[in-house]
Amino acid sequence: MRTKIKIKKHTPLTDKELLRFNKHILLDDIDVEGQALLKEKHVVLIGLGGLGSPIAYYLASSGIGQITLVDDDTIDVTNLQRQILYSMDDLDKKKVDIAKIKMQKLNSDMKINAISERLASNSDVNYLHDVDLIIDATDNFKTRSLINKISLDNRIPLIMGAAIQFSGQIIVFRNDLTDQPCYNCLYENVSESNACVDSGVFAALTGVVGSMQASECIKILLDIGERLESRLLTIDLKNNDFRIIKLNKDKQCKVCDDK
Ligand SMILES: [Zn+2]
Repeated sequence: MRTKIKIKKHTPLTDKELLRFNKHILLDDIDVEGQALLKEKHVVLIGLGGLGSPIAYYLASSGIGQITLVDDDTIDVTNLQRQILYSMDDLDKKKVDIAKIKMQKLNSDMKINAISERLASNSDVNYLHDVDLIIDATDNFKTRSLINKISLDNRIPLIMGAAIQFSGQIIVFRNDLTDQPCYNCLYENVSESNACVDSGVFAALTGVVGSMQASECIKILLDIGERLESRLLTIDLKNNDFRIIKLNKDKQCKVCDDK
């Protein structure tokens, strides 16, 4: 007969889950209760490119209960150098559809909602009502600004990542809390023309940054350790230079000043 371990407050893990997530459960910071908590979490991942690929894989393999994927793009041969979710067989197919299939193969117990659309100011974001965290894995300032606003409006923490050439950035915006800096506090004066979407990108950089975003996601959901909350991690992979810059709220910020 199937046995289940009793866990206070959370849905018990099954025998299969106890085995599957054994190496998480052996970590004191996660344990059985933390793993059961992950099963109840809902994360939105916007962008399924170079950053979104490792994020999607690690969230699926880590046992997050539900994920909503948002992306309107199709798979191009030039994506394959860094977008490790996809292969030659997937060319011209929608990224959300292939991502869902690959993630479901990895973790069939995970609930995956695939939304094939480019996020816009008039997008229906009703799915955010029970979302615990938003991960931004997009590649342009306009969409990032919009995600920041949606995150503030719905008071949901936001993990943002960027990767260009050999340089990466990761930061957590606690837009669910007051008196914390938002994306606009950091980048108000950066124009769309500065977005380097057509520049080269070192393939492994997107793996490093995306994996860090997945790591920060799980740490926030389980309240583990020091996170990059209101702290910008800059990565220069070419020279192995890693720095953390503390951010302060811009009292003049037009986006979060009334939040
Ligand atoms: Zn702000």
